[in-house]
Amino acid sequence: MGKRNKILAFGRGACYNSGMIVSDMHTHSSFSEDGRSTLTQMAEAGRSRGLRFLGVSEHLDVDPVSEKLFQPTDVPAYFSAARELQRENGPSFTLLTGLEYGYSPDAHTLETLLSVSEKYAPDFVVNSVHVADGEECSRAEYFRGKSKRQAYSAYLEQVLNSLDAPYFYDVIGHLGYVSRKAPYEDKTLRYEDFRDLLDEILKKAIARGKLLEVNTRSRLSGSPFLPGPDILARYRELGGRLISFGSDAHDVSFIAAGREDVAATLQELGFDAVAVPALGRVTLLPLK
Ligand SMILES: [Zn+2]
Ligand SMILES: [Zn+2]
Repeated sequence: MGKRNKILAFGRGACYNSGMIVSDMHTHSSFSEDGRSTLTQMAEAGRSRGLRFLGVSEHLDVDPVSEKLFQPTDVPAYFSAARELQRENGPSFTLLTGLEYGYSPDAHTLETLLSVSEKYAPDFVVNSVHVADGEECSRAEYFRGKSKRQAYSAYLEQVLNSLDAPYFYDVIGHLGYVSRKAPYEDKTLRYEDFRDLLDEILKKAIARGKLLEVNTRSRLSGSPFLPGPDILARYRELGGRLISFGSDAHDVSFIAAGREDVAATLQELGFDAVAVPALGRVTLLPLK
């Protein structure tokens, strides 16, 4: 499948508060099995919180492990409803119809995701790793018999593989997902502990122009966002500038959650914009 070209564009910055993040590019409505609010409710909540861009990224995990755990999104029904809702919104609020792909190297998964991309042309894709070493990385089974080094390395190796996915994607989803439910006393994924793998991931992400997501769903399990500031600092040091904000909301209450913390940290680290992917382009929304 052909890769789309990225063209950087700067969003008009006049109509929102300085320093505020006004995009949330990782959300799930009730089209996802674990989503609890309707698409219409999600859009209303996003607009009322002052978002200019709400990216809906319903789950599509079709690998052999996930298929036993989750029902994948009904893609035709979702696209039909989301495209209609998209048309109803004016220029001040853009709803983007996206998907969160669960990466797996197995042929069935890759073929399925490629064909969904070709048939439905999502506005953007978040490419996420939920499964490594034959298990879902947030479940107790994944960690059984593994040291923290083994569990996190196997996950990071799968993230590295995911960057070579044959389908087009825009965003690297929740780097550090493995740490959310890890059973270790100190579950933080630190740059210093996994320098080599993280450097490979970050350098490849930068070389390919992929957006690195800062995901705040980890607030529910004890850390303000993933990946942590040390990894974001290294990304910037290596030349990375494309940060996507995602709450990973599964209902209206969590839309844009933690954006103040993320905005403050990004500014401290020297980032001056948040990136929004849509239709192969990236819009930069200034943070200052
Ligand atoms: Zn995910
Ligand atoms: Zn998600």
